[in-house]
Amino acid sequence: MNEQLLYLIELQKIDTETQKVLLGRKELPVLLAKKEETFGVIKSRIAEHRSNLDEKNGAHRELEDKLKKVLEQLRKTRDRIHDVKSNKEYQAVLKEIETLEKKSGVVEDQIISILEEIDAVKVLLAMKEQEFAGEQQRYEEDKRKTEEQIGSIESQLRSGQKQGDEIRGKIRKDLLKKYEIIKNVNHGLAVVSAWKETCNGCHMNIPPQLYNELLESMDDLICCPNCRRIIYRHDQSMDGA
Ligand SMILES: [Zn+2]
Repeated sequence: MNEQLLYLIELQKIDTETQKVLLGRKELPVLLAKKEETFGVIKSRIAEHRSNLDEKNGAHRELEDKLKKVLEQLRKTRDRIHDVKSNKEYQAVLKEIETLEKKSGVVEDQIISILEEIDAVKVLLAMKEQEFAGEQQRYEEDKRKTEEQIGSIESQLRSGQKQGDEIRGKIRKDLLKKYEIIKNVNHGLAVVSAWKETCNGCHMNIPPQLYNELLESMDDLICCPNCRRIIYRHDQSMDGA
């Protein structure tokens, strides 16, 4: 293949890579911010589950305190039975004991029901905590990778610039100018491969005669008649190069 064409293909590869890196410089920080935001929502959800359990535990403690007070009152009231002086007073104390016993029964039922709620919340929370641990790990890994990518952008750009300059120095001025013009009107893509009479830039057919020229020509650069890009024959041996 024409040596100049090989340089142009190489330059296109470098320029395409640089465009990708530049796009990353613009988009990666936005992507990172989005990831942080999404994880913030996940974090606030688990915080809700945790505070739900805290609330229920708080309610349980309050009920236990309440029960303790009622039982204490009940004990004191029962003691008073020995000091009663009249039947009327005796009946009143009995009535009071009955009321307190009912009250303690109600609080005990409330305690049983809050303990059941706490158990259910704990089961759910354990499940959510496990999910969250996985999500947190994935997020942190993802975040670290993205931050690494962002961190290496400037050095990637510098090395692309250097490689590009080197190749540009080997390309004839008129060809380089042509390359830049085509690149500017074709969204950064000036050199494309062609295979089976199809341009890989615009995916239009290349007239057979021109395609044959592409296979045989060693000197002239051939452009796609549709998109005007410089085309070269797709060679399997160049894949992955
Ligand atoms: Zn084309």
